[in-house]
Amino acid sequence: MDKNEMLFERAKALIPGGVNSPVRAFKAVGGTPRFVARAQGAYFWDANDKRYIDYIGSWGPMILGHGHPAVVEAVQKAALEGFSFGAPTEREVELAEEIVKLVPSIEMVRLVSSGTEAAMSAIRLARGATGRSKLIKFEGCYHGHADALLVKAGSGLATFGNPTSAGVPPEVVQHTLVLEYNNVAQLEEAFALHGKDLACLVIEPIAGNMNFVRASVPFMTRCRELCTQHGALLVFDEVMTGFRVALGGAQSVYAKAIPGFKPDISVMGKVIGGGMPLAAFGGPRAVMEHLAPLGPVYQAGTLSGNPVATACGLATLKEIQKPGFFDGLAAATRSLVDGLSQAAAAESVAFSADCEGGMFGFFLLPELPQNYPAVMKTDSPRFNQLFHGLLDRGIYIAPALYEAGFVSAAHTPSDLAETISAAKAVFASLNA
Ligand SMILES: *Cc1c(COP(=O)(O)O)cnc(C)c1O
Repeated sequence: MDKNEMLFERAKALIPGGVNSPVRAFKAVGGTPRFVARAQGAYFWDANDKRYIDYIGSWGPMILGHGHPAVVEAVQKAALEGFSFGAPTEREVELAEEIVKLVPSIEMVRLVSSGTEAAMSAIRLARGATGRSKLIKFEGCYHGHADALLVKAGSGLATFGNPTSAGVPPEVVQHTLVLEYNNVAQLEEAFALHGKDLACLVIEPIAGNMNFVRASVPFMTRCRELCTQHGALLVFDEVMTGFRVALGGAQSVYAKAIPGFKPDISVMGKVIGGGMPLAAFGGPRAVMEHLAPLGPVYQAGTLSGNPVATACGLATLKEIQKPGFFDGLAAATRSLVDGLSQAAAAESVAFSADCEGGMFGFFLLPELPQNYPAVMKTDSPRFNQLFHGLLDRGIYIAPALYEAGFVSAAHTPSDLAETISAAKAVFASLNA
């Protein structure tokens, strides 16, 4: 008796699509979602007690692996002290101090409960601080599901976007301009047309919601220059990349290539909560002081800075600051990506892959794509075959070709070797 199937049937009767977040439903790849019974280190076990090597890690937060002893201890201790107070706590101050210490562009920070909330609040802040309404986002970047961000490109640069979800009135996205990622000419044209009305440009600096696509250094350089020149704020959505691609996030990676580089507002989530509902946005004091109760931009939350979540986040951030942590994680991730590339080459499968820190992406394409339309050239039946081949062999990657993957500090060389040899067998079957 397959318990995943039984649970999915029960779930579908009560929860739309059987899931509480759409990509979990395996709609793109087909088949039955695995219901997780428990997890430890690099593994989780499904309802049938089958073990998987986990390359999702809750979509990024579990950078230490599941059930890290120091984090479990911190959470247990915090839970005994109380779940939520609706009044400030010392741990919120400690977490703010950690964030400000690790991310030089942030002088002040506000804690919230999800990446969606953080991105939505950051945009309200950018609009409130500049007194402008319009914003730029890029096709293929995800910033949570706030109405104004569920938008696809309009019919030209003079027209603004169209909603990508039912229930979002066109008027709500009329200020959102959607551009192609890594397209400098289009970016320049958009600023020439709308620069004086732009509150902000929001970007995933290394996009993890169209698999794994880096903003090129020339493109990022122009994003920064044009924002500065036109008085728009550069909003870095580092919900996925923050504390994941490097201790200082993707902005520290770009700062190495672009001297003095800083975004104006940063949005954090995922790793910052270590698996608990926690996210944040922050930036320079002059911008952050527009927030209530100091300023006129309203923003609030019953569970914001939750005491158990902040304990989990603090314990996680403490571990990832240990000497050599990111070097080890980056080397492990690199060895996985190299091993997969070699296995694909040995089986004559068109393949390209990239990684930064503990985040990676691979494509069944001969060259790394630079934007969303290029990512979508992937042959999806072939990706689905790869996904299910790996799943059968106990390797769990994202059930959609437009998602990044994550390695944790708990993945051992033998886990990575097992993954590469499973992938080699599946690659062989792809061409059979
Ligand atoms: C996950 C994600 C979000 C949304 O975060 P939630 O916690 O799921 O609301 C926003 N931006 C990026 C870049 C993300 O990866």
